[in-house]
Amino acid sequence: MTVLTIRQIKQQIGQLTNGDTSSQIPSFWLTDWLLHVIDKPKLFLMTDDDYQLTDSELAQFNAGVVKMQQGIPLAYLIGQQEFWSLNFNVNEYTLIPRPDTEVLVEQVLNWINTQPVLRNHKRLLDLGTGSGCIAISLAHELKHADWQVVAVDLSLDALKVAQHNAVSNDVAHVEFIQSSWYQALPTGDEQRFDVIVSNPPYIDEADEHLAGLTAEPISALSAPNHGLADIEHIVVQATTYLCAGGLLAIEHGFDQGAAVRQLFLDSGFESVHTVQDYGGNERVTLGCVPNSNVYHRF
Ligand code: GLN
Repeated sequence: MTVLTIRQIKQQIGQLTNGDTSSQIPSFWLTDWLLHVIDKPKLFLMTDDDYQLTDSELAQFNAGVVKMQQGIPLAYLIGQQEFWSLNFNVNEYTLIPRPDTEVLVEQVLNWINTQPVLRNHKRLLDLGTGSGCIAISLAHELKHADWQVVAVDLSLDALKVAQHNAVSNDVAHVEFIQSSWYQALPTGDEQRFDVIVSNPPYIDEADEHLAGLTAEPISALSAPNHGLADIEHIVVQATTYLCAGGLLAIEHGFDQGAAVRQLFLDSGFESVHTVQDYGGNERVTLGCVPNSNVYHRF
């Protein structure tokens, strides 16, 4: 039986990530996968070059490398992804949280923190919650501030993952509802939300990037009408579910900023603006329901 040390595996990783193929695996996926298999902290790779992998560790490591070569992302192999410094379980029913989505969380928190006085029992809705990363990160930040957080998804399988993540991140009070966007939510003045947030599917069905995202649920990634169909539905219906002065914040594609701002304006939103992601692309559009609107809460 071949015996391999950390030193030799590191050389293998170097070879695997040195080629010039377009289907290359990021080198941190391989080192993180190795650490996961041998269940050791990061430092171990620098201090313990002579550690010999057991037969089963080596077999597990190699099997994972084959899966990554077949297009399975590291997060699905490990079953976890970090987001907003919290840990989230993920599986094939949920999108893997992207760092850029933290911009959405950050913008919503900024808005909440600059509101003069919001009423008691504030309500926040996350549409298409997936792993729950947005709703749970926000609930975590707003834990001591009397917010009710509601998160919906069409997929019961995704909701199971999100529910688990709420408990593991100590925000068990988030309410999860199976719903196609707003469909299962009650209407009525008492049911209105102060904030609606969403990272809906927005990739154009004809976009070549989809070819590289085969492991993730297509229903969470792509939408008709150049990727804008679900965003349009969410924006158009939002005023039925938001309070006067309430915030709508939506993640979208790098080239959809102008179209999404127009949808917000057409639905009567004010203070409509778009914020860039960490790569300098337009990524999150925000707007508020006018305060003068007839929608008042008492
Ligand atoms: N921004 C993600 C990507 O390009 C997609 C997320 C989404 O569709 N909501 O991979």
